[in-house]
Amino acid sequence: MSTDPCLILVLNSGSSSLKFAVHDTGMRTPLISGLAERLGTDGPRITFKDVQGKRTESLPASDHAAALDAVLAELTTRNWIDALAAVGHRVVHGGERFTSSALVTPAVLADIEAVSPLAPLHNPAALLGLRTALARLPNIPHVTVFDTAFHQSMAPEAYLYAVPTELYRQQGVRRYGFHGTSHRFVARETVAMLGLEPGNHGLVIAHLGNGASATAVQDGHSMDTTMGMTPLEGLVMGTRSGDIDVGAVLHLMRTGDRSAADIDTLLNKQSGLLGVSGLTNDCRELESAAEAGHPGARLALDVFVHRLVRHIGGLAMALRRLDAIVFTGGIGENSARVRAMTVARLRLLGLELDPAANAAMVGGAGGVISSNAEGPRAVVVPTNEEWMIACDTAELARRATETGSLWNFEPELVQA
Ligand code: ADP
Repeated sequence: MSTDPCLILVLNSGSSSLKFAVHDTGMRTPLISGLAERLGTDGPRITFKDVQGKRTESLPASDHAAALDAVLAELTTRNWIDALAAVGHRVVHGGERFTSSALVTPAVLADIEAVSPLAPLHNPAALLGLRTALARLPNIPHVTVFDTAFHQSMAPEAYLYAVPTELYRQQGVRRYGFHGTSHRFVARETVAMLGLEPGNHGLVIAHLGNGASATAVQDGHSMDTTMGMTPLEGLVMGTRSGDIDVGAVLHLMRTGDRSAADIDTLLNKQSGLLGVSGLTNDCRELESAAEAGHPGARLALDVFVHRLVRHIGGLAMALRRLDAIVFTGGIGENSARVRAMTVARLRLLGLELDPAANAAMVGGAGGVISSNAEGPRAVVVPTNEEWMIACDTAELARRATETGSLWNFEPELVQA
């Protein structure tokens, strides 16, 4: 490690958790990472993970400040605290205000607050984490990286719902898209891996994790994506339904005595792979169950793949050319079965699976899994959102330091 500050702390604050990673500039694997969980409840704890292994400790208090203090104490013990150059914060919703990552200033804080009604569960938690970190580390640059920013390149015909446009103008009802940091990173990686032209390529990227979305990327820009105003729209996910006829939702509300909160829980927490299988939201467990003949597990995987293929086909039509279908996320990077089922349904695009390559692409390996000489290829590209956040943070911090545009935060602005 050089003596210049070169470490980037990446923070991802949820309502009851704080994920963190520390990256040395230029290194994709974090020096240390971990998760503080059960914040706001009994038994808060923090897990640290590095090359040596994992260690879990209980936290003395149940809030984000206690979690961050534990992270900073760990960095102090390792003599890394003075090497911290900047902090990068993941923020879910940037609305239309943020089209790229931003150096944190009081105006940026106010703008994040202003778009928070669009993500009432996520943005307040991010703001809490951000304010806590600003209070603890006021003398280094902080940067926010938004899940929505990459999709701000979508054209109105892709982002508007066909509802009266005053709903868009007055209440921000439109499609924003999420997972943007992952899609942006994976798009760059794919262009490099396949030797595509940065200014002339077309990709459909399927980020398949617990949350799942697919995006059409042309020449490095998001043209369309499956998630909408919230992360509920689009693909079948672990516990989210993805697309559903709003008429069906209205029917349930009218006839089933369900409140909006009940419907929220139903569609976000009890649906998707879990709801269809009646078993689990975990794809790996579903695969084992399907192999053992569990009909619900088979059905869940079939519905998952059907919806995915349907969206890949639709997204491809947003592109001028199609170079690759890209699989990423926990399922995309590891499930040879889901990839094989998907590619088998994409013959119309000229795709042929290479079964040996497909079987080999697990556990962080990336590469081509199709065998057709012509036409688009199918590839696996592992995502690394933390690293992308660290890169943006390092770059914006460098520019801010060079131009002397660092902001000194007044204590009252950063009260957590
Ligand atoms: P998150 O969206 O929470 O970040 P991940 O990207 O980690 O989720 O993906 C989690 C999903 O990946 C789970 O459904 C899990 O079962 C699946 N997964 C992980 N490893 C495998 C595997 N070897 N085979 C099939 N599915 C896997």
